[in-house]
Amino acid sequence: MTCEICHGSRWKSVTVDGVERMTRCDCWLDVVKAKSLAESRIPPKFAKAELATYKPDTDSQREALRLAKKFVESFPAEQKGLVFFGTPGVGKTHLATALLKATIRDKGARGYFFQTTELLRLVRETYNRGVDETEMEVLKPVLEADVLVLDDLGVEKTSEWVQETLGLVINTRYNARRATIVTSNLRDPIDNTDMNSFMVQLGVRTRSRLLEMCEWVEVQGADIRDTERITNAAKTGQMPEAPERLTKKNLPGKSGGMARARLKDPGVQYELNWSGGKAGSK
Ligand SMILES: [Zn+2]
Repeated sequence: MTCEICHGSRWKSVTVDGVERMTRCDCWLDVVKAKSLAESRIPPKFAKAELATYKPDTDSQREALRLAKKFVESFPAEQKGLVFFGTPGVGKTHLATALLKATIRDKGARGYFFQTTELLRLVRETYNRGVDETEMEVLKPVLEADVLVLDDLGVEKTSEWVQETLGLVINTRYNARRATIVTSNLRDPIDNTDMNSFMVQLGVRTRSRLLEMCEWVEVQGADIRDTERITNAAKTGQMPEAPERLTKKNLPGKSGGMARARLKDPGVQYELNWSGGKAGSK
């Protein structure tokens, strides 16, 4: 369909102080936003997730929704990101993807969604022969996006390499004052020997960076997936299987014997200022 304003040229004339100037037509902005949305890596499962369709049941869910809306409204002035943490199935990823979409669509932001395990897998793949991309090429959009969603942080079995790689991502975005939105099933207890805590899984430095650069909300509520599972089990007369979260941590890690991150692509310069690990050092 041809645009009625510009008839397909993507430019329109505007008059400023009596002088006629050419500027990009609204339809061009729509094309750019549609392209950004298509490239944002939001999983198909969450393609229809919107802030307007998030139904909070608890105070913490209402607070999480309020902060997500506030983030979109004040972007790009708002540089502080958000950490939604707590038990699975309370809609953390719904909120994060809806926020990301709204920021791209309403504010023209460049934004990406990365499931943390998938991001680490992509970086690991660059170590394999036959993959031409360097780790920095893979990480460039992650480091440079206006808004980054890191989904399910902490689901990967931790290791020195995992901590260094995630630490590099978080620290680089912190230094560049770019907003990062995190969802995680990890806990943040005072007792820092808890194996499923931010402290143990990410390390002291990266946790404290996240505390500085994000507002944290512990999201509590009924596990929607458990509710569905139990409802389905009642229909079929079978007992539900154990939730995934009880078994995931017992799976063997994928990183055994993996060389440490070799993040020194000379073509890409980042001011890392990162003394928490060896990633990024020459
Ligand atoms: Zn137009």
